[in-house]
Amino acid sequence: MHRLCVDGRGVWSSSGIRLKNMKRRLRFLFALLLVPLAGCGAAAPGAADLGSDPITQISVINALMIGRYDGVATISELLRHGDFGVGTLDHLDGELIVLDGTAYQVGGNGVVAVVGVGRSTPFATVVRFHADGELPCPVVASLSELDASLSEALPQKNEFAAIRVDARLASITLRSVHRQEPPYKPLGEVARSQSVWTHDKLEGTLLGIRCPAWVGGLNVPGCHWHFLSKDHKIGGHVLDCSIEKGRVQYDLRRDWLIKLENAPDYHKADLGQDLSRDLKRVESARGGGNEAEPREPKSTTPR
Ligand SMILES: [Zn+2]
Repeated sequence: MHRLCVDGRGVWSSSGIRLKNMKRRLRFLFALLLVPLAGCGAAAPGAADLGSDPITQISVINALMIGRYDGVATISELLRHGDFGVGTLDHLDGELIVLDGTAYQVGGNGVVAVVGVGRSTPFATVVRFHADGELPCPVVASLSELDASLSEALPQKNEFAAIRVDARLASITLRSVHRQEPPYKPLGEVARSQSVWTHDKLEGTLLGIRCPAWVGGLNVPGCHWHFLSKDHKIGGHVLDCSIEKGRVQYDLRRDWLIKLENAPDYHKADLGQDLSRDLKRVESARGGGNEAEPREPKSTTPR
């Protein structure tokens, strides 16, 4: 028999599914009425209900790292799996932001646009965002302070989390990458020509996808942040930020869906390499793709 129980972290079914909010609870209860009890009575406590509402990613980060920039899923397919997330577009054509069900592209020139029909993504991670809860917004002077504060407030380090921070920022440093043409170069090389901007005093949404440390090679370990301003004119991959105030909502996930490529040469791709050092540099370098030689970010409005 199915049972519902409540503990400090939420409402659970006897099969181990945590029910995140009232809407889901009601949906689950409705599902119980439809499922024959004989079939599910055998489920062991703690058994996973695979695919219930997973965090979904298109391809794996190592594929992007070695320069596989052709689309693996269309944007409309991606939006069917989530309304909140981060990624990039085919041809590595800028940064991708999925917020409130709309996909935005931040081009290499910094211009923000709604992604057109027919575009696709070689790498993205999305969820259907339903907040599990809220946290006090930390007042921080840097992105590393934000990550440290959230890591303390959300100790579920082996689960995935989507984190939405609607904030007023004292400053934010963003980057985007330029569209590539085949034959593609590896991301570490391409990122050396990224554009970097710093903006002061603005409001907007930080979109964070936090992956466990053990996802190395498959996704970005730790927090991967993108940003979209309230007026949808400024955005990008976040390199640094200083937050004055805001609202933090989080959504924890224990189901994980990965869509792999279906390209004819996919079997030739060496995806098992340890590219973690290169990835760290690509994710956090402010310029030149090399942390040892930091370049001062330009203070320009990317328009
Ligand atoms: Zn990014």
